Amino acid sequence: MNKLLDVLRTILLFAKWLIIALILVSLWVWAVQATHAQGVPLVKATHDSFVSYYDIQTHNPALVVYQLEYSHFAGVLKPSGRHFKMDTQLPRPRVKDSDYTNSGFVRGHLCSAADRDSKKSWLKETYLTSNLVPMTMVCNSGRWKAIEDSCRMLAIMGHRLRVGRWPMYNKLENVIQASQAKGVCISIPAGFACAAMCLDCDLRFFKWCPNLRSGSPQLVIQDIPSSPDNVVQFRNDPRVSMLLTNIFGVWCREEYETITH
Ligand SMILES: [Zn+2]
Repeated sequence: MNKLLDVLRTILLFAKWLIIALILVSLWVWAVQATHAQGVPLVKATHDSFVSYYDIQTHNPALVVYQLEYSHFAGVLKPSGRHFKMDTQLPRPRVKDSDYTNSGFVRGHLCSAADRDSKKSWLKETYLTSNLVPMTMVCNSGRWKAIEDSCRMLAIMGHRLRVGRWPMYNKLENVIQASQAKGVCISIPAGFACAAMCLDCDLRFFKWCPNLRSGSPQLVIQDIPSSPDNVVQFRNDPRVSMLLTNIFGVWCREEYETITH
């Protein structure tokens, strides 16, 4: 009888540890999945004229933030070419300018070159790959340009702006295929967003535009919403949302306070 009890006790003890082990394993699996859902950390590339938070999964910047005032673009400097230089602050494998050649997409800036034409080094920085996104011709020279213009107009009116620009995605399957084995696959954003916040007044805005198909792109972009009503289709990357909250919320207010007091 005692022997039977001993066996039972051993079984129970074993079962207890088994349950604890199971709980620990499932906790670990949950934690790994939760971390995975958040995505890998963004790589921060800091430059004089902008800061880029780069996504090594999409091979695009996830967010570019910079300050904009009239003196930043009051110059008449012209870029020396249309090509982008590899940002060595980014981890390998890196996007090359040539990855965009014959892709059907133009090389789009998040921090506009036209916002940085008063200082040669600043203008040059806007041609770094940490500021580069695949845009359709229609988007780049159409509604995105209008968004850029509206930021500059506010700066011309004397506002000092904090500007944040980022790509939005529907699906990540649409990519610029690597032309060679060495190349990287660049995700095609379905749209681009711009947030601007005045550092000396209450003014702030959010604008976005779809990355509409141009004349004859080699790649078809699917599920692109055509009206701002459809913006809800986009779920902001939680990493980008957090950055936006930090940069456009608390941080800006703190800076505003140090300026005014
Ligand atoms: Zn203002």
